[in-house]
Amino acid sequence: KISANDLCAWFGDKQVLFDINMGIPERSVTAIIGPSGCGKSTFIRTLNRMHELVPIARMSGRIQLDGKDVYGPNIDPVLLRRKVGMVFQKPNPFPTMSIRDNVLAGLKLTGQLEKSQADAIVERALKGAALWDEVNDRLDAPGAGLSGGQQQRLCIARALAVEPEVLLMDEPCSALDPVATARVEDLIAELRRDYTIVIVTHSMQQAARVSQQTAFFLMGEVIEFDNTDKIFTQPDDQRTEDYITGKF
Ligand code: ATP
Ligand code: MG
Repeated sequence: KISANDLCAWFGDKQVLFDINMGIPERSVTAIIGPSGCGKSTFIRTLNRMHELVPIARMSGRIQLDGKDVYGPNIDPVLLRRKVGMVFQKPNPFPTMSIRDNVLAGLKLTGQLEKSQADAIVERALKGAALWDEVNDRLDAPGAGLSGGQQQRLCIARALAVEPEVLLMDEPCSALDPVATARVEDLIAELRRDYTIVIVTHSMQQAARVSQQTAFFLMGEVIEFDNTDKIFTQPDDQRTEDYITGKF
């Protein structure tokens, strides 16, 4: 289980997150919605310390994963990011690397693998990402040869290969066509049984289709965080209603 307590974040002098308190339920999908610049990406990046890769970024407050402080002294950020994986807006497989090596990319950082072990991991991760049937006859072909939707599922396979607990997805479908989007949405619905998923999306339809909880962010604050049904049918806050009905 992952949770944020009194989370604030800054880029330089500019505060971009204000006292976020959110417990993300396990084995379900939590959608983060809100206008551009409201802090959605920054929020999910603080969950696995990805924002630390931006030198001027800092945070206060607490993130806990399974009761442990993610920013505590004994946490290795590399291992943390294996437990809390991330999938980005633009599919970003290593283009010249083979499909197989792309899947294994996250594991290779931490030691050598036996070939038979590696084969099993590749098959399991590609099956988990609903890509195996499409690529199992060309695992040595470069990642760049796949369609956009396949590349995104390859990136999901790469994230799954390290056996994460949590998957953070930052607008994973916004570079995909409707057919590829539907496939990734179906996949997310499948993955929910085994993983805790947080998905940032600009699509209200997508949030409604794939998530069980939705958080509405506005100018760095969580305005409302509730069951997705409730958010989309009876939001408590007028600003939530205005946003989901397209008034801003
Ligand atoms: P979008 O929907 O456009 O992706 P977002 O909700 O993900 O937006 P963030 O990317 O989290 O928003 O940005 C929140 C605020 O932090 C914005 O004001 C943005 O300009 C600022 N910001 C984000 N990244 C940086 C950075 N690397 N350096 C400085 N400011 C940044
Ligand atoms: Mg963003």
